[in-house]
Amino acid sequence: MPTYSHSRLETYENCPRLYKLQYIDKIEIEETESVEAFLGSRVHEALEKLYKDVRMTKIPTLDEILEFYEKAWDENWHDGVNIVRKDYTPENYRELGRRCISEYYGKYYPFDESRTIAVEHVVFFPLDNDRNYWIRGVIDRLSVAKDGTYEIHDYKTSGRLPTQEQVDSDRQLALYHIAIKRMWPDVKQIELVWHYLVFGKEMRSRRSADDLAKLKQEVMELIKKIENDTEFRPKESALCDWCAYPEYCPAKKHITMTSKLPVNDYLKEPGVVLVNKFAELQRHKKEIEEEMDKVREALINYAKENDVEVIKGSDHRVLVRFYKNLAFPTKDHPHRHDLEDLVRSLGLWERVSVLSPVSLAKLVESGQLDDEVVAKLSDLAVEEVRPWVKLSKLRPGDEDL
Ligand code: SF4
Repeated sequence: MPTYSHSRLETYENCPRLYKLQYIDKIEIEETESVEAFLGSRVHEALEKLYKDVRMTKIPTLDEILEFYEKAWDENWHDGVNIVRKDYTPENYRELGRRCISEYYGKYYPFDESRTIAVEHVVFFPLDNDRNYWIRGVIDRLSVAKDGTYEIHDYKTSGRLPTQEQVDSDRQLALYHIAIKRMWPDVKQIELVWHYLVFGKEMRSRRSADDLAKLKQEVMELIKKIENDTEFRPKESALCDWCAYPEYCPAKKHITMTSKLPVNDYLKEPGVVLVNKFAELQRHKKEIEEEMDKVREALINYAKENDVEVIKGSDHRVLVRFYKNLAFPTKDHPHRHDLEDLVRSLGLWERVSVLSPVSLAKLVESGQLDDEVVAKLSDLAVEEVRPWVKLSKLRPGDEDL
């Protein structure tokens, strides 16, 4: 039975294919790590040491903590540390870490706001009574404030400061709240505390029993969705720049492979040739369609001006005829509901409505129907694989892979 963590769930939400490559296929790749992750690990280690010392009644000096940080930075740095934002050097990131630690130290010294009871504390617990869904996580620091409130602390070195609304709906620390409540049911109050170190800002939030019950339900639904996924579609986003698996991803594999080719070989590569041909034909098609619209319009005007309905060419003839139609409100028209109500009340619904197989397929696939209903409908459906081909401009970053 797989164990889920917040970051595992988040990976699926960000990109199902990345989730599959990382957690199901467990593709082994050369050791790579984003510089942001590297920086986060070093800062976490430094703060872990700080609080371990404090717990042992020793308050280390800032210089000692910074020395620890610098040493860990040098010892752990490796060739696989990847800097995506090319405007910044390793030294910029290193200095950012120093600043995060120094500001934190200055703000909380002598670290007696609350009593630390655990650092890097591993939690592992089931979400449901049947113990089918297990969550694992690591609490950066757990402490007890002077009024007895348990505080779950999390250090963030991200360069993005969330809103209060976002931290109020944060999943990670809320899951840890559930874990702490299970471990110590007598705990009266629990507070979630984020330290956004780059901004020197602390953010706090609390959760009610209802919030936590809702969260458990949502997480179990998400896990079911993951376990029932058979496609794991790639979801391209800005995060692709940080992805370690572009060579294995159907959305990035060809781009990665061809970007390494010398320009002559690149232009001869069969996929590149086909896309270029397709783009050229699409352009012609558009030009021809625009030209046809103009000629069609001219034929209509000619027929009107000359009061003819058949216009003769060399090998073809064109029939231009004008029909009067009744146009009822379409699907998104504001009076559509009135029309539907009227048609029903007149007993005409069965005669004019038609089943939409596309809408029915979407409804079945949405997961909103009972399993029994889905099973009955599925008996009359056949699974088809239909290709969908769409031409678009290259995206930012496609050239750089
Ligand atoms: S490259 Fe992008 S789309 Fe492909 S697996 Fe990675 S994150 Fe997903």
